[in-house]
Amino acid sequence: MIKTNSLNKYYNKGKSNEIHVINNVDLKLPDVGMITFFGPSGSGKTTLLNVLGGLDKASGTITYEDSSFKSYRAHNIDRYRRYNIGYIFQNYNLLNELSVYDNLRVALDIIGVTDKDEIDKRITQSLKAVGLYKYRKKPAFALSGGQMQRVSIARAIIKNSKIIIADEPTGNLDSQNSVDIMNLLKKISEKTLVLLVTHDKKLAEYYSDQIIEIKDGKILCVREPESNLSINSKLTENKIYLQDMREVSNNDNSLDYKLYLETDDVSKIFFTIVEHNNTFYIKSNVKLQLIENSPIELIDGKYHEEVVAKNDMNFEYDTT
Ligand code: ADP
Ligand code: MG
Repeated sequence: MIKTNSLNKYYNKGKSNEIHVINNVDLKLPDVGMITFFGPSGSGKTTLLNVLGGLDKASGTITYEDSSFKSYRAHNIDRYRRYNIGYIFQNYNLLNELSVYDNLRVALDIIGVTDKDEIDKRITQSLKAVGLYKYRKKPAFALSGGQMQRVSIARAIIKNSKIIIADEPTGNLDSQNSVDIMNLLKKISEKTLVLLVTHDKKLAEYYSDQIIEIKDGKILCVREPESNLSINSKLTENKIYLQDMREVSNNDNSLDYKLYLETDDVSKIFFTIVEHNNTFYIKSNVKLQLIENSPIELIDGKYHEEVVAKNDMNFEYDTT
């Protein structure tokens, strides 16, 4: 558990451009789960996350389990941080010239793991957990963005962190990679506290256990995510999950078709279907796309089911 007491931080204090970047923040965070800080750009999310993660200082008190730090005076917070907190950044922060394996070895070195077998075991485990074991010898710079972020997740979990801090981890990724990264973080959050910052409302509402809204350095509210938002085909570009959509059945028995709708504006759609020489011609007032020759894939399932299936693979889905 993390508890904060009257956290305050200013930039340019006493000057005309003073910013009260953390404004009297009292928080109680659980041991596990995904907690998301959500708010406009410049509202102080990164600063607060960094203070909670021991990377930055503020006045007030932070208590982790039974270790309490009056932040401005703490020196041993560095030690706590080193052993207990893992970081995932928007820009990955890997050592680009080093191999994937050596990036992780450095992380272990910092916490004093020097036994060769132990190093190898932990690196293998964490790389398999993020599906990158076969990339272990590649230099970090040769990876794609999504792969780099998975290495940084491996680096965060390799020290058995109690807390994972992730500041816009999907900020540089496309939608499919974002969903993959969020699935990994969600899985990790079953046993670890994951503190996430994201701009993406859909990701926040779909994956979080709790959302903390921030504005001008203040906590506006701590709330449950909106449960009615789901990640649908918009986030997995070339897939349409039919069961996430509304099915409209026809009343006319002469035709056997199913219509799936993502829109509520059903009254404004019309189709005219004409058969001529064994070919159907469809005219509509909405844009039509031919599925057969497009990269779009129709899946008779729900997106959520796929998320669950991935998680069920128990972390080790790449054993090559
Ligand atoms: P967010 O992550 O929500 O976008 P930040 O925590 O990065 O917000 O920044 C909050 C505010 O503090 C912004 O107005 C930013 O310009 C300001 N700020 C951040 N770092 C510094 C700094 N080192 N010196 C002065 N102002 C800063
Ligand atoms: Mg930020």
